[in-house]
Amino acid sequence: MEDIRHISTQELLLFLEENGEKKFRAGQIEEWLWKKGAGSFDEMTNLPVSLRQKLSENFSFLNTVIGRRVQSSDGTAKFIFRLHDGREIEGVLIPTETRVTACISTQVGCAMGCKFCATGTMGFIRNLHYSEIFDQYILMNREAQALYGLSISNIVYMGMGEPLLNYDNVMRSVEILTSPKVQGLSPSRITLSTVGIAKVIKQLADDDFKPEVALSLHCADELKRRERMPVTEHQTFEMLQEALSYLYEKTGKRITIEYLLLKNWNDSVADAKKLHRFCRNFPVKINLIEYNATGTEYQKSPEANVRAFIDFLESKNMVVNVRRSRGQDIDAACGQLVKKAELT
Ligand code: SF4
Repeated sequence: MEDIRHISTQELLLFLEENGEKKFRAGQIEEWLWKKGAGSFDEMTNLPVSLRQKLSENFSFLNTVIGRRVQSSDGTAKFIFRLHDGREIEGVLIPTETRVTACISTQVGCAMGCKFCATGTMGFIRNLHYSEIFDQYILMNREAQALYGLSISNIVYMGMGEPLLNYDNVMRSVEILTSPKVQGLSPSRITLSTVGIAKVIKQLADDDFKPEVALSLHCADELKRRERMPVTEHQTFEMLQEALSYLYEKTGKRITIEYLLLKNWNDSVADAKKLHRFCRNFPVKINLIEYNATGTEYQKSPEANVRAFIDFLESKNMVVNVRRSRGQDIDAACGQLVKKAELT
């Protein structure tokens, strides 16, 4: 049976009409689905039992459940979610004193094959439906309230998968999360992170995408980047820069550049100079990320290299943040936990 969350409002209205029910019930049902995150018809207590019965005879819930939760000594909590077909994805909650950021997945596995990423080694399995993206938010929001006494304040589409290759589901999930009628999160508190699919970045601009966009650049030397992010072979720097300029022109928003510092690969001052050059045509904010080792050959950049890298960028008046790795004791980097569960 079809998941009730996979039908449109029009289809729901038609179902109600065919079953002799009033139109306003559609609003009640959708409120249960998208505002309260109901996972069964029994929870919809303001609907007559007869209507709940009809709904359950015609529709299902392909629910996502938490398969496992591990919590780091620094408060970061990581989840393995089990999908209705038994597949697994990951999500992470990263708390501070006043905020909780949720990192969510958009695909099972990933086709991009980035060599420093545990998910990249799994290959692409399937796209997540927008209801499965939403499920991660609802489940982690309940956990955030229980663990930290706070609701999720920020969302990053930075878990497993390349969001721009699951465009329609990602867009619909953003719509649900930001709609004032349902979750009402501010678009400025949502960040979509991409390895950079130039054509789709332009589409974001044309579709008036309101959340923040982050480019996982990691290396501003085109050939070197290609070695460890093979997909970028078809996305040249020229295409990428043109698309980012276009996005900036259309939205007026500064682009975030994510840059994972790896020892002796992309952490020299010469690399910082290339990064500065890459960003010359659009305003950016640089997030330097400390590497969270996954048992690969890569190592985190030494403190002295990080300092020199930052000093150069700041001397060029660039805005730089350093994101220290959180949850190291629980394998909180993307794909690590599912990979580990597969191996044990
Ligand atoms: S870093 Fe992101 S895009 Fe690259 S393989 Fe991992 S999940 Fe995919």
